Amino acid sequence: MSHELHPSRAVFDQVMVPNYAPSAVVPVRGKGSRVWDQDDKEYIDFAGGIAVSALGHVHPRLVGALKEQAEKLWHVSNVMTNEPALRLATLLTENTFAERVFFANSGAEANEAAFKLVRKYAHDHFGPEKSEIISFYGSFHGRTLFTVSVGGQAKYTEGFEPIPGGISHATYNDLASVEALISDKTCAVVLEPVQGEGGVIPADPEFLKGLRALCDKHNALLVLDEIQTGVGRSGELYAYMTYGVEPDILTTAKSLGGGFPVAAMLTTEKVAQSFGVGTHGSTYGGNPLACAVAEALLLELLEQGVIANVEAKNAKFISALQAINEKHGVFKDIRSCGLLIGCEMADAYQGKSKDILVKAMEKGLMVLIAGPNVLRMAPSLIITDADIDAGMALLDQAVQAFVESES
Ligand SMILES: *Cc1c(COP(=O)(O)O)cnc(C)c1O
Repeated sequence: MSHELHPSRAVFDQVMVPNYAPSAVVPVRGKGSRVWDQDDKEYIDFAGGIAVSALGHVHPRLVGALKEQAEKLWHVSNVMTNEPALRLATLLTENTFAERVFFANSGAEANEAAFKLVRKYAHDHFGPEKSEIISFYGSFHGRTLFTVSVGGQAKYTEGFEPIPGGISHATYNDLASVEALISDKTCAVVLEPVQGEGGVIPADPEFLKGLRALCDKHNALLVLDEIQTGVGRSGELYAYMTYGVEPDILTTAKSLGGGFPVAAMLTTEKVAQSFGVGTHGSTYGGNPLACAVAEALLLELLEQGVIANVEAKNAKFISALQAINEKHGVFKDIRSCGLLIGCEMADAYQGKSKDILVKAMEKGLMVLIAGPNVLRMAPSLIITDADIDAGMALLDQAVQAFVESES
């Protein structure tokens, strides 16, 4: 009976926990930056599965790596290591500040590992008093209880109390607010180099440099959550490289697997020692299938000059968005870091970013929001100029329809 059922959107409400409110559209296949739904309607994808599909949909090199590994070995657990994990960890250490890698399956798990590690490192080197984590209002670090607590949005912890303690929040891009909180009891300062879910807000270079200096002064670790900004999206492999500020720990997920679940926590040899045998772990972390895909994705970025093209694609997005805004005046700010782009709604349209998203879907364009006031885009890093032009023509129509519906 159930295998004959047509899996339409209506089934969602009957069989799924209601924590999501998915669109009425059910995508069934994709290719590059195009996606088709159950009715074969075509969409241009400016959403990238929330900054995940860095090489678009079903990229041949990723499909090849997945199929090749699928014929070889799927899983052994961390009782043994495996070749794809070792190759991927080598690539990550060779191309970043890091000397050691821990693999996980999702961004939240990579952050959970990072937040446990900063506590353990401080405990090992300075004693149990040094346990306080400073994070920022507006930040997002995942949905486990520890990561929502470090995250800076009360709506994600409400109703889940009691939540873990020893966490305080400062104001993003306000160094004085961190100076007021930091002390020798601080074990880490945690931030996204660009607040993604919080509205695409880049850190000021002076702010990030100031945080590095404050951490050094107080023997605290600097943790950069690059789950949204990482893997080429910023125009460098990781956004910290654009700032010239090195973290002690960096977390990466989303684009790392291009759609296959994989995440990593990167750190130095010294800090890594606090995760000795038995202190932390994951059954699936470093799974051969996931690591084979991520390895292929990183090699494609590094060998094909993908990252070097991000800046030019950013310029194309920004000029098209400015042209749309000159016509319709819907945005008061257009912010970006490479191919992570946020358009803040003008005062007259506060709270209405979702309305544009809905209109765009009707026209055949997938975009994202970052809260009620920001329209967000996080497309494939190899989206073609033709797809950008075609998508922007649809966005223009969607914005026009939105403005008309408002007047
Ligand atoms: C998406 C995201 C996370 C959470 O990643 P999941 O894979 O959903 O657990 C954490 N931090 C940032 C900055 C993110 O954008």
